[in-house]
Amino acid sequence: MAGSFAAALLGWYDAHGRRGLPWQVPCPYRRWVSEIMLQQTTVRSAIPYFGAFLARFPSVEALAGAPLEDVMRHWAGLGYYARARNLHAAARRIVADYGGQWPRSVAGLAALPGIGRSTAGAIAAFAFGVRAPILDANVRRVLRRYHDEHATGAVLTRRLWAYAEEKLPPDRIEDYTQAVMDLGALVCRKVPACLDCPLKGDCRFTGDAPARVRPAKPARQATLLLARRSDRRVLLVRRPAEGIWGGLWSLPECARPEDARDCLGACGVDLLDHQLLAPVVHHFTHFALHIQPVLAQVRAGPSTPPPGSDMMWHPLDQPAPGVSAPVGRLLNRIKDLP
Ligand code: SF4
Repeated sequence: MAGSFAAALLGWYDAHGRRGLPWQVPCPYRRWVSEIMLQQTTVRSAIPYFGAFLARFPSVEALAGAPLEDVMRHWAGLGYYARARNLHAAARRIVADYGGQWPRSVAGLAALPGIGRSTAGAIAAFAFGVRAPILDANVRRVLRRYHDEHATGAVLTRRLWAYAEEKLPPDRIEDYTQAVMDLGALVCRKVPACLDCPLKGDCRFTGDAPARVRPAKPARQATLLLARRSDRRVLLVRRPAEGIWGGLWSLPECARPEDARDCLGACGVDLLDHQLLAPVVHHFTHFALHIQPVLAQVRAGPSTPPPGSDMMWHPLDQPAPGVSAPVGRLLNRIKDLP
């Protein structure tokens, strides 16, 4: 059955698979950057970011030599910023510890920051032709359904890795790896298009259990302060490295609009006046962030931050530094407000 699985997939891939994507070349650097981008981002959304990233950082040496701030700025808008920090850290390891040469084994790749077993398998298969299984979210869904697997947790994961391993074809590993990814993305989607599937003859899928339907995302609240001076500069603060938007520039945050004065006071800034703006909701994978923006007219106190600190006064008429997508939209929203 393993042979027929791979043969059916490869036949389907020859007719329907995705080709001509900008990272589909046997280059470990391009494969690595694309695999990290695609962990939480669709192919369509990743393509323009990938082009801009490669234009600025055309090699692992260029990435390793760039300031982290620059890398974060080119990642801004993609979300999940730990990915950018890990890319930068891994690039420095590859240059410092491996002389710019990539480890070719799954174990060697998986020892680098931000590269798990599945991503290591994909890079090894695509860049070096290594017969390595992958198990990203799409492939998990295909294999779980194909075997009508109802185990959960670590047992499920162990079984899926075993299925992924046993199905590897003896050759064409690059095409097979792309094929199984594509099938999950294009056919065996959340609502599967079984009639179009090359595996429908052997697939045992009997339907997703109701318990596996994703529950509604929990909500979190945050108040973001757009503290604007009379010279139309807005206060930005750098977020901690860990947590959402880690390491990016952002707006001062407090629990409630009533806390704005204390929050800004802690930054050495006097609140003169403020108004609530229309709320926005930003969706993360596991929760929805309900943001209450507050436009605050302020006067910077004596502790106006020096360059190089974790605070800055950003001129609204200039491009924002590395900020998250919702913060970028909020800065745009107040550009023309009096
Ligand atoms: S037959 Fe349907 S459930 Fe089975 S792998 Fe294909 S699309 Fe998925």
